[in-house]
Amino acid sequence: ALRARALARSFGRGSAALAALGPLDLDLAPGEFVCLVGPSGCGKSTLLRIAAGLLRPGEGELEIRTHAGRPTSMIFQDYGIYDWKTVLANVRFGLDIQRVPRKEADERARTWLARMGLADFAGAYPATLSGGMRQRVALARALAVEPGLLLMDEPFAALDAQLRTLLQDELLGLTQTTRTTTLFVTHSLEEALVLGDRVLVMSARPGRIIAERRPPFGRPRTGAVRDTPACTALK
Ligand code: ATP
Ligand code: MG
Repeated sequence: ALRARALARSFGRGSAALAALGPLDLDLAPGEFVCLVGPSGCGKSTLLRIAAGLLRPGEGELEIRTHAGRPTSMIFQDYGIYDWKTVLANVRFGLDIQRVPRKEADERARTWLARMGLADFAGAYPATLSGGMRQRVALARALAVEPGLLLMDEPFAALDAQLRTLLQDELLGLTQTTRTTTLFVTHSLEEALVLGDRVLVMSARPGRIIAERRPPFGRPRTGAVRDTPACTALK
């Protein structure tokens, strides 16, 4: 679903140029859930922005193919939701871009808000919500479009432990049933090991992939699996 070769990016020009990422190779199989961990500033967000088409790769190749041309969704580290739009309008945003008819877009947006426990906040403005609630608005917006490639930049960092577990389970179930290819950035190795089919470890800036592990758990990894001794031992 995603293939990158010798992908690299720097910022600035000439002697002031700063190598921020790579070069690195990356392959995501269709439906695969890959977690990415690495030190702060190593280029994780830069990599996601390039994959989302928001930033040009400086060097190398990037190819993205999703089944039936499903869109790419990204959840930003700082949520990236619009303060001047209501919660509902935020979630409907991607659906509007895809020209989903108004009524259906409304229904789908409300369904996702309800799943995120935000049914009562459809008409609210993001500024009045807590950090965790804003994060859930961003999640609802990214998932409502049924993406083929889901790029997530520390999406659960602002959530309490209980909600994090709940949303991790929801995300695992969802990406599995919809076969959504997912690239998930986290600072938590534990989270990476629970969620990932594969975990990639990046070096310090400019980030390259220096290690790769397949956690020993197959799917599903929700609920009971998380509580098995093998998984608990990783904590
Ligand atoms: P964190 O874990 O703290 O979120 P990260 O791995 O996501 O870090 P990036 O945000 O990708 O790191 O940044 C990688 C490097 O590129 C950093 O040194 C950062 O300062 C630099 N950088 C990122 N974006 C820009 C930009 N637009 N202009 C200049 N430098 C940038
Ligand atoms: Mg980042």
